[in-house]
Amino acid sequence: MRTIPTGWMPPAAAKRIIVHWTAGAWKASAVDREHYHIMIEDDGNLVLGDRSIADNDSTADGRYAAHTRNCNTGSISVAVCAMAGAVERPFSAGKYPITAVQWATLAEVCAQLAKRYGIPVQRDRILSHAEVQPTLGIAQAGKWDIAVLPFDRSISGAIPVGDRLREMIRARLAAPSTPAPTPGRPDDPGAPDLSQRTGCRSVFRNLRESFGRKPG
Ligand SMILES: [Zn+2]
Repeated sequence: MRTIPTGWMPPAAAKRIIVHWTAGAWKASAVDREHYHIMIEDDGNLVLGDRSIADNDSTADGRYAAHTRNCNTGSISVAVCAMAGAVERPFSAGKYPITAVQWATLAEVCAQLAKRYGIPVQRDRILSHAEVQPTLGIAQAGKWDIAVLPFDRSISGAIPVGDRLREMIRARLAAPSTPAPTPGRPDDPGAPDLSQRTGCRSVFRNLRESFGRKPG
C-alpha cells in the first residue's frame, strides 16, 4: 500500500478530488507535474506535482495546478500516468494503458485524501474528469479520462467507472487503519528526487513547446 507523505497534504480548503489520466507515458513528465498535485506511475510510485494542494484554494493569482476547465478552485487533482495516443472510438489504449496497479493505487490515494480533507465519497465530490460535465454541468470539451479501464473492459462509461472507483474508496476507508510507521525508519518511499527537478525544467519546457501535448 502506498502512503501519501504527510508533507504533501498541507492544510487547505479542498472540497473535491478530480481524477485524471495524463495522456502521457507511464512516468510523470515535467508537464504532468505542472498540472497535477499527485501522479501515479505504472508501478504505483507516487510523484509530487509542482503546485501544492493549498495553491488551489484560490486560482486568482494564477499559481495553481490547472487540470480541469473552470473547476480548479478547491479541486485536488490526482492523475495516473498513462494513455498517450489512446483513441476513444474505436477504442485503443495506445502504448501506455492504465495498469491495474495504478487503478488500485488511485483508490488508495483518494481514500487517504478524502480522510485528510474530510471529503465525502459521493459523485459530486470525488469524480473523474470525464464525470465533471455530466455530474457538475461544467463543459469539458470531450474529456474521457477515466471512462474506460483497459485491463477490465467489462465496465465502461464515465459514471460506471467513477462508481467503481468510489466503491473501492469506501471499502478502503471502512478497512481497519494501518499501524503508524515505526519511529526512526524511513516511511516515505514515494518522495521524488527533488534535486534533479529544477535543472530539467527548461529543457522540458522547450520540448513541450515543440510538441505542444495537452494534458488529459
Ligand atoms: Zn483530465
